[in-house]
Amino acid sequence: MADLYLDGAWVGAAAGGRRTIVCPADGTVVGEVDEADETDTLRAIDAARRAADDGRWRDVPPTERAAALGRVADLLERDTDEIARAEALDTGKRFEEAKLDVADVVSVFRFYAGKGEDVERPRDVDPGQPHVRSRVLKEPIGVCSLITPWNYPLLQASWKVAPCLLAGNTFVLKPSEITPHSTILMVRAIEEAAVPGGVANLVLGTGPGCAGPMSTDERVDLVSFTGSLAVGKHLMKQAADTVKRVALELGGKNPNIVFADAPREAAIDNAMTAVFLHSGQVCSAGARLLVEESCAEEVVDTIVERARAIRMGPPFDEDAQTGSLTSAEHLKKVEDYVATGLAEGARLRCGGARPDDERLASGYYYLPTVLDRCSVEMHVVQEESFGPVLTVETFRTEDEAISLANATRYGLAGAVWTGDPERARRVARALRLGTVWVNDYHPYVAPAEWGGHKQSGIGRELGELGLEEYQETKHVWENTEPAPTGWFS
Ligand code: NAD
Repeated sequence: MADLYLDGAWVGAAAGGRRTIVCPADGTVVGEVDEADETDTLRAIDAARRAADDGRWRDVPPTERAAALGRVADLLERDTDEIARAEALDTGKRFEEAKLDVADVVSVFRFYAGKGEDVERPRDVDPGQPHVRSRVLKEPIGVCSLITPWNYPLLQASWKVAPCLLAGNTFVLKPSEITPHSTILMVRAIEEAAVPGGVANLVLGTGPGCAGPMSTDERVDLVSFTGSLAVGKHLMKQAADTVKRVALELGGKNPNIVFADAPREAAIDNAMTAVFLHSGQVCSAGARLLVEESCAEEVVDTIVERARAIRMGPPFDEDAQTGSLTSAEHLKKVEDYVATGLAEGARLRCGGARPDDERLASGYYYLPTVLDRCSVEMHVVQEESFGPVLTVETFRTEDEAISLANATRYGLAGAVWTGDPERARRVARALRLGTVWVNDYHPYVAPAEWGGHKQSGIGRELGELGLEEYQETKHVWENTEPAPTGWFS
């Protein structure tokens, strides 16, 4: 009964709210957690503000803050199985997959733990005057609101928490209300790593129920959000009144472009993982296949055949290749999305329904689905399903492929498959995307920035810029021989 971490103590919700967490793979109860309301969030903000103002973390040398991140990484690695189990039960993803996610999270903490020397980067500039020392400094922003989604709960939190702490900020973190358990374990690791109380604060609950002050309270300096476009826009408007910094990692409708000269087997195999990994609940999922007309039939037929053979199952089923969707609401959204596509004239090649398998009947499963004969103006091509749904469009020329790929409001990620390196470079340059893979799909590394063009977001996570998101810039002008200016004398 103490799942909120406020001002260095584990406490229950002030109003006694509780939420039952259900495993989406079979509907069983995973546990109950405290559910905050705005009173709890205001306490969290109050604690984070005091901790930011008294310098208990800001004034710790950056190399020591980095060392604390290293300890967090070690603790998360030590507890990999426990954390992966929590994540798998909350999300419905396979346990083995969740373990890979934890390894990724550890690498994110280690990456920033290795950056202690790079945090302040004071820069002397030439003031053009003798007797003046002019320095530009990087400082923590202050109090950060961190709001994360349910698809990769811990990974998305780590992309924010690690640089936020390294930069010397304090924070209030709110994970998705339906997948809180791995984030609770991460905050426990932060506590065990001896980060001072009040620096890291955790509230659990819904956005409307408890997150309001995270984007409106004037004691908060930055809102960093990963989630849907609709909520991102809402938060940006909310944050405008007090001119907070805003960092947004939003949705994607990511094109995966396959030219006829591509390494065919690799392109087909990766087109499958691009869209069906984690049942398509990946912001960078390659959910839009753009395939050159001359090879479209062969490519799509093979994908359909293989999609039909994907084995679904609960987290600890060793035969399963993918899991369930993460909530009943989300399953309904995916069903509606496919129905819209069919009404718009797309052709259903496989899937399009829940599996007809007794073993899976109590979970929120949806069959890997391929819709072909899609065209760019369709809702299913323009909007994210965030489910295991591949839409297929064809093209004839390179220019057509580029213009189709760029024709949505999103710009998160995508890929180009071709055997022609010159073409790969041309297309990669022309795509308005934050990440472009050439003859690959999905890999990312902590030193390389991640983020969206267009309405996929603002700002960057990971890499150097992922740290700068959490820093303010200050110019200090120091006159070593002060003298009257004489201007008004
Ligand atoms: P969501 O926007 O519904 O929720 C995200 C978070 O915002 C949750 O913690 C939720 O409780 C909170 N929230 C909801 N309403 C709120 C409000 N009014 N005020 C404050 N907080 C509120 O998104 P989701 O369904 O959890 O996640 C799926 C979305 O996230 C997809 O669109 C996906 O593309 C996106 N996503 C993007 C990235 C990326 O790196 N760009 C990564 C993962 C997920």
